[in-house]
Amino acid sequence: MPLRADLEGESLQSFRMSGVEWNALQKSNRRSLLKMPCCGERAVAKTSRLGTQYFSHYRKSESCDLGPESKEHLLLKEVVAIAASESGWEVITEGSGESKDGQQWRADVLCKKNKAFVALEVQLSTQTLEQFKARQDRYKRSAVRAAWFVGKNQFHHSKPSPSKDLPIFYVDWESGCANPQVLGFEMPLTDFVKALLSGMIIWKDEPEEYEVRFVKDACWKCGSPVKLPYGYSIGIHSENIKTVPNCDAILRDIRKAVGNDFLHDNGINTIHSRPGLKGNAPNFPNCCVCIHCGTPEANCYLYRKYVANCKCGYANSGSAIKIVGRCEGRWEIER
Ligand SMILES: [Zn+2]
Ligand SMILES: [Zn+2]
Repeated sequence: MPLRADLEGESLQSFRMSGVEWNALQKSNRRSLLKMPCCGERAVAKTSRLGTQYFSHYRKSESCDLGPESKEHLLLKEVVAIAASESGWEVITEGSGESKDGQQWRADVLCKKNKAFVALEVQLSTQTLEQFKARQDRYKRSAVRAAWFVGKNQFHHSKPSPSKDLPIFYVDWESGCANPQVLGFEMPLTDFVKALLSGMIIWKDEPEEYEVRFVKDACWKCGSPVKLPYGYSIGIHSENIKTVPNCDAILRDIRKAVGNDFLHDNGINTIHSRPGLKGNAPNFPNCCVCIHCGTPEANCYLYRKYVANCKCGYANSGSAIKIVGRCEGRWEIER
């Protein structure tokens, strides 16, 4: 749903209007002349439950392809639009355009300064990595740079990793919608958008060193030798499992960092979600699975094995494997 409507040839942006102006618009006789920017049908001024002012179709339009947006999407779009506007860029929400090969697009927040265009997209609904790449590529063919703000819990299983060609930033808005934070940057979304549009968020091409730590064991089911993963390092960041429930998060992070193919190729048990497995804490389903027979090793067992063998470095049967340069770089703020 747009933050923009046309009123007798004039473009209204809801985020630029005060509450008083908004109320006046809702009561004004001219309200029947409000037109949606997507299809030109009649628009109505509304306020979401999170307090965002927006426009909606007066009547459901059959010809319009504009999908519904959640109140969270509207709020984040508004936060991004205001920040972009305060950074001195010309801002048009739901700004549309076309690539050189004639493909249409519509950006949540389209920013323009001189000849530069930047599309800022809020993505809270599921979108595959292929869809991210296709849409990013369409912007590229339109000479528009684009960045994505994605809900931190949006991709439960396969979180697309940011890359130089695909700037994805994870936003935590659940802890408080009023002040969403950009994860990994320890800063509010507002400040982040301003930094991004000032060219302060840069891609650093630096391979990082990854390490996966494991304990050697035998599978309880098939008896084959297995390596149970229990910890990892990325650069200077290092973590081992701490409790039985915490195994879920650590194992998920290991899978995200190096991938199951890498674990399998190095003879380390792969990591999967096994909800309901006895020996995993409820609602903490990720555990490692025997690469020979597919039998899961419960996290209470992994934790016990870890405490017994590895808590003091790589004593006894613990070991580690290093991988260099798995990560091609990362987005950073230039300070
Ligand atoms: Zn429409
Ligand atoms: Zn086995």
